[in-house]
Amino acid sequence: MTNKKTRILVVEDEAIVALGIKNSLNILGYEVAAHALSGEEAIAKARETRPDLALMDIILKGDMDGIQAAEAIRATLEIPVIFLTACADDKTLNRAKVTEPFGYLLKPFEERELKGHIEIALYKHDLEKKLRESEERYSLATQGANDGLWDWNLETREIYFSPRWKSMLGYEDRQIGRSLDEWLKLLHPADKHNVQKLMGEHIIGMSGHFECEYRILDASGAYRWVLCRGLALRNTRGKAHRIAGSQTDITDRKVYNPLTGLPNRILLMDRLERALKRTKAPNEQSFAVLSLNIHNLKTITDSLGYLVGDQLIVEVARRIQACLSAQETVAHFGTDEFVLLLEETRDGRDAAVVASRLHGELEKPFQIEGQTVYISASTGIAIGTGNYSCPEEVLRDASTAMHRARAAGKAPFEIFDTGMRSTAVARLKLESDLRHALDEQEFRVYYQPIVCLKTGRVTGFEALVRWLRRGQIVFPGDFLDVLESMDLIIPMERWVLLESCIQMAKWSKQNKDPLTMSVNVSARHYSSPHLVNELKEILQRSQLDPASLILEITESALMEKTGAVEETLSQIRDLNVQIHMDDFGTGYSSLSYLHRFPINSLKIDRSFIGNLGMNDETLKIVQAIAGLAHSLGMGVIAEGIENLMQMRMVQWLKCEHGQGYYFSKPMDPRAIESLISGEYPWSAAFGKDVSPGFPSAIPDKKSLCLLENLPQ
Ligand code: C2E
Ligand code: MG
Ligand code: MG
Repeated sequence: MTNKKTRILVVEDEAIVALGIKNSLNILGYEVAAHALSGEEAIAKARETRPDLALMDIILKGDMDGIQAAEAIRATLEIPVIFLTACADDKTLNRAKVTEPFGYLLKPFEERELKGHIEIALYKHDLEKKLRESEERYSLATQGANDGLWDWNLETREIYFSPRWKSMLGYEDRQIGRSLDEWLKLLHPADKHNVQKLMGEHIIGMSGHFECEYRILDASGAYRWVLCRGLALRNTRGKAHRIAGSQTDITDRKVYNPLTGLPNRILLMDRLERALKRTKAPNEQSFAVLSLNIHNLKTITDSLGYLVGDQLIVEVARRIQACLSAQETVAHFGTDEFVLLLEETRDGRDAAVVASRLHGELEKPFQIEGQTVYISASTGIAIGTGNYSCPEEVLRDASTAMHRARAAGKAPFEIFDTGMRSTAVARLKLESDLRHALDEQEFRVYYQPIVCLKTGRVTGFEALVRWLRRGQIVFPGDFLDVLESMDLIIPMERWVLLESCIQMAKWSKQNKDPLTMSVNVSARHYSSPHLVNELKEILQRSQLDPASLILEITESALMEKTGAVEETLSQIRDLNVQIHMDDFGTGYSSLSYLHRFPINSLKIDRSFIGNLGMNDETLKIVQAIAGLAHSLGMGVIAEGIENLMQMRMVQWLKCEHGQGYYFSKPMDPRAIESLISGEYPWSAAFGKDVSPGFPSAIPDKKSLCLLENLPQ
């Protein structure tokens, strides 16, 4: 509150009367801002002194009377006027009304009457000003936002649609009437119920405001997406009598992907629905839906950052578009998922031609921010015919075929056939079971001994995960890929790491000779920036000597993005944790290339060991691998030794360690404890008369078999 006095302009041509008014005003606590004798003078003084209010006589000296002066003051200066007059005739009154005065007081009047009029006039004027300001604000805001406005009187049931509301949908003003039905009949049938429900809920007070996104028919016959907001005005008992709000066109945001600018799922589904309708017409052609997925986008963004990932997606989108004609739609569903709609295909062959052209383009390297990036993608094709009842079904089948192409890994694309559907259902079941497996602690770690091939002693174990699914053991080959695709591989491996480190810490205490624990870590996990910290924490929690821990890495993990992994590997080595290369020989890496990485040992893949003795070539390969590994200062472990002959061969090939069913299958901790506490079943093969240390020449299979009494 300010104590500033209200300033009043007195317009009165009779000096005595004017004096009386001024006196009264002073007594009532007002300040006289100025006194004018004529209309012209009144306007000039009002402009000069900017009073809060004018008391205006109607009959004045000069050409202009009080009503004309009041009119000018109201129009240009927004000063409220009260007429003080002796004229009470209807004609004067009607003229005065037009100037929207804030009072009309007949002379003679009493002081308290004057005060009452002045106070009410000031109050009303203030109120009007505020209202006008808020209206202006609202109008500016809505003009700026380009919104259409609507205002629904619930009592008369009439609804007002602003011109903008109509024009944003392409309608002329006269094309839309004033009943609610005019609105409802334009709504997409699938959205109508929801709009009515939300509106009804707000009217009865169940929600604070009305807000809804829906499709509405525009003048061209297409549906546009709009966001509609509204607020009800209620009486003191809370009953709504009016509801008003805005309508914003959100079609672009709703149906286009913001990154690539391609249609998104909504728009594609719309087009798919129309294509499906057409197949139901006589002699109509089928169409094809291609679901294209990029596999390694996450790995790329993890290692090169989101900026590169985003640019890559934009470039992928561009290449796909370039392969299609204008009538064909390519939609971008999510980060790594694209869906193509090829209208008018004859059969799967047309679509296959497009798919192979696409893959030809996508196989070429991408140059992003000075980096060369390769992507791998799979596509599933579903042919849309009249047999489908809704677009979702076509999409589902295309996606099933895509998963099949991805899992098979042979062809870049697959065409859906009905046999795939049951596989897809099984896969869904597997995913949903796996989601619970971690929380329900259904994973187990089995351990497979790793044996020193000179002494026959167990020197360590490999930790291998198992899933106890409804009492049945499931092997990693049957669920790891799925876990990976669900982004659950890292949490699972974290758990295996902790579990096996705790186990190893326990066994290390019980055993006098040092033991090691080898744990498999996926490519995805190696590219996680958190791996090193996780390891530190796990070592700390389990109290395991880092030197007892070995992490296995596959060739493909190394190859995928050497930069990021190289850094992680050297940090792991700094922790004094060892690194072994798993499944060596199945990938593409050359030994000289491996020299760059801090790798302690190679595990020769079991496919080579299984073929030892079958052909000379394998023998030579393994010999070469072992020889080179040794010359690079790495140890060699032979995986998958299943019989004595293979064991002898790898002994002769100077592999230091071996692992395989010949020694022991992977077992649960209890079984391992009983194995290592007693005499090893294979100890006889390490008797002193057979091969003390490594002989120098490789024996042929025949002499080996004779030597060991094996069937030839
Ligand atoms: P891997 O790391 O090469 O493990 C060796 C696999 O060969 C194990 O299969 C093991 O049971 C099997 N194996 C060992 N000796 C023999 C043998 O003499 N003959 C035959 N035929 N097989 C033998 P498993 O346990 O089914 O694991 C398969 C693969 O799953 C593993 O291959 C490894 O790549 C992966 N894996 C297992 N646990 C994990 C884990 O915790 N994380 C990750 N990322 N991968 C895991
Ligand atoms: Mg392994
Ligand atoms: Mg292996």
